[in-house]
Amino acid sequence: MTLSDKLFIDGTWRKSASGRTTKLVNPATEEVFGEVEAADVSDVNMAVESAHRAWESGWRDMTPGKRTEILFNVARKLREHIEELGQLEMLQIGKPVSDARDEAGLGARCFEYYAGAVTKFCGQTVPVSRGGFDFTLRQSMGVVAAIVPWNFPFPIAAWKTAPALAAGNCVVLKPASLSPLTALKLGELAHAAGLPSGVLQVLPGSGSAIGDALVTHPLVRKVSFTGSTEIGRRIMELASRDIKRVSLELGGKSPNIVFADADWERAAESSPMSVFANTGQDCCARSRMFVERSIFEPFVEKFVAATKKLVVGDPTKTETQLGPMVSASQRAIVEEFLADARRRGSKFVCGGGRPHPKGYYLEPTVLLDVGKEDRCWKEEIFGPVVAITPFDDEAQMLRDVNASPYGLSGSIWTNNLSRALRVSRAVQSGVLSINSHSSVHVEAPFGGFKQSGLGRDLGMAAMEGYTEMKNVYVGE
Ligand code: NAP
Ligand code: MG
Repeated sequence: MTLSDKLFIDGTWRKSASGRTTKLVNPATEEVFGEVEAADVSDVNMAVESAHRAWESGWRDMTPGKRTEILFNVARKLREHIEELGQLEMLQIGKPVSDARDEAGLGARCFEYYAGAVTKFCGQTVPVSRGGFDFTLRQSMGVVAAIVPWNFPFPIAAWKTAPALAAGNCVVLKPASLSPLTALKLGELAHAAGLPSGVLQVLPGSGSAIGDALVTHPLVRKVSFTGSTEIGRRIMELASRDIKRVSLELGGKSPNIVFADADWERAAESSPMSVFANTGQDCCARSRMFVERSIFEPFVEKFVAATKKLVVGDPTKTETQLGPMVSASQRAIVEEFLADARRRGSKFVCGGGRPHPKGYYLEPTVLLDVGKEDRCWKEEIFGPVVAITPFDDEAQMLRDVNASPYGLSGSIWTNNLSRALRVSRAVQSGVLSINSHSSVHVEAPFGGFKQSGLGRDLGMAAMEGYTEMKNVYVGE
């Protein structure tokens, strides 16, 4: 497998102006396996200008039918390369190969969905009171900068790029430094499938070196970001200077709420993967569990038994469920959280250590007796750690759930319909599942309340976010 290791600008591979490169480390082996060019500010300018030219000179005005055809061709090309995309993802971030393949498929599905959406995304006619004729247009914005993280590199790149392109924008995609390979492959395959040069540029490079230049470039009309709340805040501040559009998908501290009337055995068996999947490096991770007191002990017992059965290890094996963490520094951050929990006297029911001598592995860890003021309760850990607490009273439990500054996702387990509806209204989050842990559907809006973000990815809501609405009135 040959690695694409340069910048993808205007349909060609280019070396970075600075000559700088980023080394890629396989988190499962700790070995360097490649090196990728790292973009400089002058590369950002070149990519944005080229994207703007591509927008003005064709993509913006292409017929919806033609744009649909090209995006379906991109989706088909991605489907033909699922195995390669999965292998690249596994290599760069240690994602278990079965998950990596599934996520490559999710990215392809995203292109299929938005290819179809091009001809179904409509404005309105408005019955204005003075007569005449009034209608709205949904118009493309120009250049969209998509800045994506390393935890779900390929699907998130797809779910920003596909709707932005479908809505008639051109995209400069900046992958995380740890995970440039599947983004570069997306650029290459999309181009091979007939996406015109300049419509999608892929710029690997360090966020701290090129982020400001990309976000503040006057031709970038919208910044679509997924990552930490800290960088999201910075992007929003920079974007405020010229009222640039932003959508932000940030951190989470999502609850998993289990009532005694639920099929709680099923909840206990399925809940470990709601927090430990992707080795906990998931903004939707259900890292705070609230379990009704009458079932608390048997629930925890079953939950821990299911956790101990999880296969943690070599991501190349199809049976592996949890791979390593993405990097030594991410693991160190999580171990600092665990040290804090130890100092504060939390109970480690299982996990807490390193299961393998090589690779950035960390055991899935179950904590009890975590105080409501402790770091492990309040902050996003972004690793395989869950805190479980009993509750007695629904109203108090909801106050605790909503005390978090985050509001991304969550699960509710109950067989009482009125309770399910009441609690799902009360939980302050953008995404919720009842008797399930499924958060992400290509067809449905995804995003957060409060400090979990702004705007929505996926579904038709994402198309709205990549357009400006214009109202046109025609006099009688
Ligand atoms: P991050 O810094 O927010 O990285 C996300 C993306 O933003 C990457 O492409 C990154 O590039 C880029 N970036 C970094 N600095 C930037 C800047 N000044 N301007 C514009 N873009 C910039 O996240 P991280 O440092 O990788 O992870 C730190 C913590 O963030 C994690 O522990 C976790 O809590 C949280 N996180 C959340 C999500 C999520 O899905 N919500 C995803 C990842 C991380 P580089 O890779 O080159 O720095
Ligand atoms: Mg960072």
